[in-house]
Amino acid sequence: MNQLGIIGYPLSHSISPEFQQAALDHHKIKAKFHRWEIKIDELNSFFETIQDANFVGASVTIPYKEQFLDLVDKVSDSANLIGAINCIVNTNNQLVGHNTDGSGFIRALKTKHGFNPHGKKVLLIGAGGAAKAIAYSLVQENIKEITIANRTVSRGDELAQKLKSITPKIKSVKLERQSLIKPLNDVDLIVNTTSIGMKNSLNPEHSPIPVDLIPPNTVVNDIVYNPIETPLIKAAKMKNAFTIGGLDMLVYQGVEAFELWTGKHAPETIMYDAARKALGL
Ligand code: NAP
Repeated sequence: MNQLGIIGYPLSHSISPEFQQAALDHHKIKAKFHRWEIKIDELNSFFETIQDANFVGASVTIPYKEQFLDLVDKVSDSANLIGAINCIVNTNNQLVGHNTDGSGFIRALKTKHGFNPHGKKVLLIGAGGAAKAIAYSLVQENIKEITIANRTVSRGDELAQKLKSITPKIKSVKLERQSLIKPLNDVDLIVNTTSIGMKNSLNPEHSPIPVDLIPPNTVVNDIVYNPIETPLIKAAKMKNAFTIGGLDMLVYQGVEAFELWTGKHAPETIMYDAARKALGL
């Protein structure tokens, strides 16, 4: 039987097995989507077990997204630039690493919500792993300009520097009220990639930006999906902004991965419904 799964540690929170299995079943593909919860000292021996013709591919999540760059046979150009892998595909017995976080984020924006980032002004909050993937994908879409706001400015500077050759209109500021006034005065898309507002984080009740500065008629996308309605999403709704929650990126990175593994069109609605059900919604 064909084997697929998600690799990470811990994995109890992951809903990928539910929505990927729903997609496999929809296409009547005889395959099991596993939950491979692998501890760090088990990683090398686990990796040997997937060098097998029945292994189709896997999603890769925390804490292994960077580590897998050195383990796979080949790395896609985008995963190389982002510096992380979130998907592996067995291609003719070679394990190829991809990154579908950014492409999934863009696909959700464009196909599900009809928002084309081309020519738009973006405020990206955060400069961690998810921010890198999203920033890389956004600049490929010929956005007009992007401001990265991060708590640790040096991390934001580093990301801005890396992307400067693709888009000159990029800057990095500190994640604080004073530095956000100007970028928020003229912005089309705000994306939160920090864990602020996430359940069980240090600040589950907080918005990453001052809510009074959120302009109306903006698209606000919070990639945190637990809770579905984060403090930022709630505040943006009050300001009449158009809001997009984190479940879309989660499902669409999985949609892109499913298509790489199977070559078939992913049943987006079925996957989204299975994801909501797995979250008890
Ligand atoms: P990461 O690499 O650890 O980056 C975390 C980011 O959050 C950094 O920019 C960090 O700033 C910032 N941050 C954390 N706590 C903060 C605080 N108290 N105040 C200000 N900034 C803070 O994590 P990641 O992998 O990018 O994930 C970030 C979030 O995105 C998580 O909530 C994760 O669940 C979510 N996510 C969602 C999806 C999806 O598909 N929807 C995919 C990936 C990630 P510093 O640089 O200053 O530390």
